[in-house]
Amino acid sequence: MSDPAARFPTLHVSQHPAVLHKLALLRKVDTEPKKFRELVREISWLVGYEALEDAKLDAWPVQTPLEMTQGHRLADRIGLIPILRAGLGMVDAMLELMPTAQVWHLGLFRDEKTLRPVEYYNKLPDEATVDSCLILDPMLATGGSATAAIEVLKEWGARKIKLVNLIAAPEGVAAVSSAHPDVQIYTASLDRQLNEKGYIMPGLGDAGDRQFGTGHS
Ligand code: URA
Repeated sequence: MSDPAARFPTLHVSQHPAVLHKLALLRKVDTEPKKFRELVREISWLVGYEALEDAKLDAWPVQTPLEMTQGHRLADRIGLIPILRAGLGMVDAMLELMPTAQVWHLGLFRDEKTLRPVEYYNKLPDEATVDSCLILDPMLATGGSATAAIEVLKEWGARKIKLVNLIAAPEGVAAVSSAHPDVQIYTASLDRQLNEKGYIMPGLGDAGDRQFGTGHS
């Protein structure tokens, strides 16, 4: 079955032409870090916009130069959780979309023996103070860090959690959606598979190295 919606009911893959165009530039091996960072920001904005599709609104009367009208404002208190380090490049775009969002940094990895998330950095406040959490990570590969982040957020008291990625592997989507069927996943692309080193194929290489210029090639 090739229809992602049929395979993974919680997965939303953007179909927007602007996203597809920018995604091709992002993947290109000769896209340099400055351009790569710009593209991460632009695609994050567009995928983030789609992830806000069910955000709650309050009525907000506003005065135009001509008359009063009934406007709206975002009512959801949103927390952005970039997964270090590659998720950092997605934060500015998301803050443009939702300027009142709070940003919490989470650094973690999954212990391969215990399969439990190991935190090495956690700036979450003592208790959940938001309605909705968006986890930001450009690459959903094995799903290890995403699943770990979701577990940390749930233990902390988060009720509504979404994952915002740029590229996802079927293996990662399967892992997250079977462990957390309540978490919606938004991405610009569902790629073919992981390779033996855990890279997404065709992918874009290491999203952190490509943003921060730390690659070896
Ligand atoms: N993380 C990356 O940056 N790239 C991949 O392909 C997989 C995980």
